[in-house]
Amino acid sequence: MPIAPATSAPLGETLEALHRDAVARPSAGRVADYIPALATVDASRCGIAVASLEGEVVTVGHAETGFSIQSISKVFSLVLSLQRLSDGLWSRVGMEPSGQPFNSIVQLEWEHGIPRNPFINAGAIVVADTLVSHFSASRPAFLSFLRKLSGNQRLMVNDDVLASESRNGSRNAALAHLMKSFGNIEDKVERVLDHYFFQCSVDMSCADLARSLLFLANRGTQPHSGETICSRRDAHRVNAILSTSGMYDQSGQFAFSVGLPAKSGVGGGIIAIVPGYGVIAAWSPPLNAHGNSTTALWMITRLAGQLGLSIY
Ligand code: GLU
Repeated sequence: MPIAPATSAPLGETLEALHRDAVARPSAGRVADYIPALATVDASRCGIAVASLEGEVVTVGHAETGFSIQSISKVFSLVLSLQRLSDGLWSRVGMEPSGQPFNSIVQLEWEHGIPRNPFINAGAIVVADTLVSHFSASRPAFLSFLRKLSGNQRLMVNDDVLASESRNGSRNAALAHLMKSFGNIEDKVERVLDHYFFQCSVDMSCADLARSLLFLANRGTQPHSGETICSRRDAHRVNAILSTSGMYDQSGQFAFSVGLPAKSGVGGGIIAIVPGYGVIAAWSPPLNAHGNSTTALWMITRLAGQLGLSIY
């Protein structure tokens, strides 16, 4: 059912006011530096974009500037994997919230190498394994998928971030090797990690992200092209896991205060799906202790409240 935002002000004015208030707030949080290349980004960048199913894309601030999508890539890789494997994926990765940090190792050993969900690193590495196995060249296939969804043929991987991730990926390598020991990684660990680091290192803007993910707000079909990207059932499932597990170990609080399927990344981006209406994408690099962008979180929380967008 389409949602009518609960305000009479034009969306552009609402977003301008929101952005003005956001940048006027005292700065809080820290830019991620465990991947050193991410620490070089200008911390004062701040943008927000809203794409609607009608084809409107409203952007404010640095919403057209590319940034490292990091864990937001896990949404795209999951959908691409479901296109190939369908239900086969769910015997290798679960659909429960982890309640643990995104790169935690302990739970994985207790649970015999089956990650709790596809949005923690271990789960995304299993998804990456499926892509490496199913595509002769998974990295170009992943990039083409993003270019097609966003309509932006210039999307690229950021080579500095990619090199930095690869050099500092010991914890992800540990997760992958542990899962390999349980038989839950089919391909060579090095090839799987190469794909995983690649997908995290793509740069996209808020506008690119909002446009790309409209199919999740539209039961699996891109509204502008009419192309089915995933089945209605898979759109439901992806949104359900985004609702319970997309915001790291702050997902419960986000569901409580915002009530939208969402995914964040340590590059400072957050996307939120508004079924029947569109997609919000916000970006500001400094992160809170959970790894979520403080200002992007603030903007999305406030906008969802103002427009009455909660799905609950
Ligand atoms: N590439 C990052 C990592 O694997 C992604 C983390 C994130 O955005 O949650 O550590």
